[in-house]
Amino acid sequence: MTGKVRTRIAPSPTGFLHLGTARTALYSWAYARHHGGEFVLRIEDTDVARSTQDSTDQILASMHWLGLDYDEGPIYQMQRLERYREVIAQMLAAGTAYHCYCTPAELDEMREAQRARGEKTLYDRRWRPAPGKVLPPVPEGVPPVVRFCNPPEGDVTWNDLVKGEITINNREIDDLIILRPDGVPTYNFAVVVDDWDMAITHVFRGDEHINNTPWQINIFRALGAPLPQFGHVPVILGDDGQKLSKRRGAVSVTAYEDNGYLPEAMLNYLARLGWSHGDDELFTREQMVSWFDGSHLSKSPAQWDAAKLAWVNAQYIKAKSGEELAPLVAAQLQKRGIVADARLPAICALFKDRCDTTVALAGWAAAFYSDIEVSDADRAQHITDAVKPAIATLVEKLMTVAWERAEIAVMIKEVLATHALKMPVLAMPVRVLVMGTSQTPSLDSVLEIFSREKVIERLKKA
Ligand code: GLU
Repeated sequence: MTGKVRTRIAPSPTGFLHLGTARTALYSWAYARHHGGEFVLRIEDTDVARSTQDSTDQILASMHWLGLDYDEGPIYQMQRLERYREVIAQMLAAGTAYHCYCTPAELDEMREAQRARGEKTLYDRRWRPAPGKVLPPVPEGVPPVVRFCNPPEGDVTWNDLVKGEITINNREIDDLIILRPDGVPTYNFAVVVDDWDMAITHVFRGDEHINNTPWQINIFRALGAPLPQFGHVPVILGDDGQKLSKRRGAVSVTAYEDNGYLPEAMLNYLARLGWSHGDDELFTREQMVSWFDGSHLSKSPAQWDAAKLAWVNAQYIKAKSGEELAPLVAAQLQKRGIVADARLPAICALFKDRCDTTVALAGWAAAFYSDIEVSDADRAQHITDAVKPAIATLVEKLMTVAWERAEIAVMIKEVLATHALKMPVLAMPVRVLVMGTSQTPSLDSVLEIFSREKVIERLKKA
């Protein structure tokens, strides 16, 4: 292999960007960046019935959100039909592909008979030309498909970048359909023409494609095209040990964006899910690029661990400043119909250590911008008759204290002294009344962010 490393991600726009695809995209992207190569985005939209523009838009948005920038694309397969047909014509002329006129009913019958004989159900090559073979008469009105002349014998072996050597015998696979009667190519053919035309050198993809790879290798060879290297990444399992799927929780990148995860944290977590660099759990995108050389990819399935992802996200939230978090939290608040203001960076800075998502952070921030609920249980537990006189004194003193954290702290101590109370006895009810919960950062720092009027208004509800 000479020249530039070129990798690609080739999602089908039949839904959101799946976490598994996002991880493969990350590996492909990082591998290209590591080698100073190029990364291509291709939209595999030949499944016309299931492909939608909305899915394409979502995929592009998720790639953008994750910061997986591509050097070429998006390239749409449906815009390349002419090219596929041209290659098909060449293959028909070269005898590496042929027309097959079998009807679906005939194929069913063929499979039925094979099953009855206890054989593998493979196309019996009845339309494949061979020296001296007489083909069936071409039926009227049956639009043909084009099939690939797969070598009938011999092994297909490749050295997988992830799994090591893989061998599949050609007897296991048949002459697959490469062009449908409607002139749209099938996945295994289009992917080869594309990877060839786009000079892809390394293909990372999910290991559900391992069984497709021998066909693809055979087609590359039939076309005289250089073979890329393949790396098949194991599936991601849910915490029940089953393949991660929609039924078992969020599997789209969009859902995590909506649920308050940071793209850096997602990338970090996805990277570690199936790849390692020593014991490093937290690393930057730049570190990953400098480390990701295709080694240390795990051969066995990774287990999705929502708690670990939340932990990783919390670390990234903690590492950000209030200013950096504010726009993200403002976006979450907006979904609740709340328009934030200049206090938001301070709120984020104060509460970020107790949050593992920006949604949780928005939950805290909401107390500053909209009405709070005080539960009956909190009221009964904390706002006792014994503390009410102290709250009244506090309200009085809050009217004149300089609105600044240190001053508020001193004043609270004075109230405690006057009423001979310990801090928690007063702090708990004040937190409940002002924030709606008894667990908050220090009272002075919380109160400082509110306006004097708002604090007094809420405390008067004691
Ligand atoms: N469109 C295929 C998929 O989404 C791409 C597989 C490949 O990378 O070759 O699974």
